[in-house]
Amino acid sequence: MPQTTHYRICPLCEACCGLEIKVQDGAVTHIRGDANDPFSQGYICPKAVALKDLHDDPDRLRTPLIKRNGRHEPATWDEAFAEIARRLQTLQAAHGRHAVAVAVGNPTVHKYGLMSYFPKLARVLGTRNVFSASSLDQVPKQLSCGLMFGHWMTVPVPDISRTQLLVVIGANPLASNGSMWTVPDFKGKAKALQARGGRLVVVDPRRTETAAVADAHHAIRPGADVFFLAAMVHTLFANGWERLGAVSEWVAGVEDVRRAVSAFTPEAVAVRCGIAADTIVELTRALAHTERAAVYARIGTCTQTFGTLASWLVDVLNVLTGHLDVPGGVMFPKAAAFASNTLGTSGSGRGIATGRHASRVSGAPEVMGEQPITCLAEEIETAGQDQVRALITVATNPVLSAPNGPRISRALASLDFMVSVDIYLNETTRHADVILPGLSPLQDDHFDMMFAQLSWRNHARYSAPVLPLEDRPAEWQILLKLAAIAQGQPADVDVNAIDDAQFAKDVQRQFGPHADTVLQATQGLSGPQRLLELVLRTGPYGDEFGRKPDGLTLAKVQAASSGIDLGELQPRVPELLRTPSGKIELAPPALLADLPRAWADLQTPAPELVVIGRRDVRSNNSWMHNLPLLAKGPMRCTALVHPSDAARLQLQAGKLARISNASGQIEAQVEISADMMPGVVSLPHGWGHDLPGSQLTLAAQRPGVNLNVLLDDSQRDPLSGNAVLSGVAIQIQPIL
Ligand code: SF4
Repeated sequence: MPQTTHYRICPLCEACCGLEIKVQDGAVTHIRGDANDPFSQGYICPKAVALKDLHDDPDRLRTPLIKRNGRHEPATWDEAFAEIARRLQTLQAAHGRHAVAVAVGNPTVHKYGLMSYFPKLARVLGTRNVFSASSLDQVPKQLSCGLMFGHWMTVPVPDISRTQLLVVIGANPLASNGSMWTVPDFKGKAKALQARGGRLVVVDPRRTETAAVADAHHAIRPGADVFFLAAMVHTLFANGWERLGAVSEWVAGVEDVRRAVSAFTPEAVAVRCGIAADTIVELTRALAHTERAAVYARIGTCTQTFGTLASWLVDVLNVLTGHLDVPGGVMFPKAAAFASNTLGTSGSGRGIATGRHASRVSGAPEVMGEQPITCLAEEIETAGQDQVRALITVATNPVLSAPNGPRISRALASLDFMVSVDIYLNETTRHADVILPGLSPLQDDHFDMMFAQLSWRNHARYSAPVLPLEDRPAEWQILLKLAAIAQGQPADVDVNAIDDAQFAKDVQRQFGPHADTVLQATQGLSGPQRLLELVLRTGPYGDEFGRKPDGLTLAKVQAASSGIDLGELQPRVPELLRTPSGKIELAPPALLADLPRAWADLQTPAPELVVIGRRDVRSNNSWMHNLPLLAKGPMRCTALVHPSDAARLQLQAGKLARISNASGQIEAQVEISADMMPGVVSLPHGWGHDLPGSQLTLAAQRPGVNLNVLLDDSQRDPLSGNAVLSGVAIQIQPIL
């Protein structure tokens, strides 16, 4: 068979790089960056090449598994769905809708079939027990932006190709290529920034890979970002440096913010931050006086008890320095499809709501329709009305990725029934009674639903399947079948017929007298692809089913194998605002009300030694440790310790140390590094692949240790429910 060439968006991280993939005789022979991709321009990282390893991984599940007598045994799809129908429907009838929980993980967002059909499953279940990885690291940013701009996904990102000063706080885009900011080849873009005379400044407890190429690095105590940012906002007001710039007409609440931060002087926060007051003032001055500047913050600022406050203050700074919605500042992408801030009436909306219900045990408020994933174990363990007795997981491994993994593992083992949609028999899915295998990313088509809304440049790119789908259901069909079963339908129900009927109904409701035109235009399509055709054509660049002949259609996007460039980011205020007032709400009352908690915390001493996570370019959460290309090389699950701490605590490089606190203890290999701030230890998360019953052969050879054993699942940001993963107090001692 002749070699064929395919183009695919890399699904392994948020950067969404375009790949060129060569296939011969049904096997992948080469993977490299697609030089013609207008968005990623040929860039890839080592993870992309491991897509071949992922596809070929003998441990990747190809058939459903049913647990019988404690062992997972291969089963047919019909047998698996029949087992689910038998047990799930009985359980729902006996215990009600809230007894079935769902949990969804990060890989879902990279699969538009899962992403577009998971909400249908959750809606049909009608359970309030919906959990996701969002409450591990990103919901504070979405909440603060939702309150300020009116929608969860209206998140400004740095306009990196035009900025002159980029301040990066608690993020390591050189390793991640952006998070809540899709920016492939961050390193190249940072170099270009410096080449045109601009500056990159990093604020982080570790001298990260990003800090190493920066013009300045300020080491900050973990968890102190809220104080640092509040002091910068204070400094703006104290010196009269605040200016609203292009969005001045649309900003409400400036005076409220001025009053709220009045006590947070640089002098008041300096010791707690570990950054001198003068440095805070100078950085604020630079930000205020640089015409094109942007502040970007991420994981470190979100994964703490003040995550929402810190995320909010980042954009308060961007607004008050006149850098919001202007070239070179932070701007709002305009995605071709699936973006709520391109729908409905421009300029105002309903805004967002939280707390429409609370979790049963802890009373944690609902955010984005979800409960914090740190509530999952207690909802399973705690007896009473609406106790969770069954769980459906989709591409998630909370035993390794959420705080107090051992407790989650025990809770999962106690469930009456568990179904997992996953490509691996891993530390979480080993508890499932039925596992339905997901697809290799090379076997399904894809259009990015979320990250085009966070991209450094506007684009539309579609990926056709690289390799054929085997004789098995697509992932959207799996979720639709689960939804049908949850609705009481038999296991052999025709999901394609359900999908057709639901689509026709939705189109009738949305398009009324024009519904027939839409249905005719989408004939021959099904599932997420049909949905994509609809939203592309009715989206901001769409052809509106022929009314704008130059507009986008699915066929046009498909025809552009490397994607379509939709240009640099453009100002979007006030068009994208969806707050009820039609304003940028600079001072949401819920956030102002939380500031006194931060002030009180500032008065208490910080722990002497704390742990933080870290990102490695060859890893992403828990699921890439079984791929030979990424697993080779030096051990990555090491505890980085500053030389002064190592000397004080008698720790030796390469030797094991016991890291402990009230939550638990682990034993990790020590790596001594002057890149660490004294008093801070760094350990990556997602490791600990030595649990019985998993089938991750390679990962088990170098399992690493589970950082999340040390994390207390009762510690959350009270506003967003986000887990506290950063700045957790520990002790560390050598194992002699
Ligand atoms: S940075 Fe690497 S893993 Fe992420 S999308 Fe690009 S190639 Fe894939």
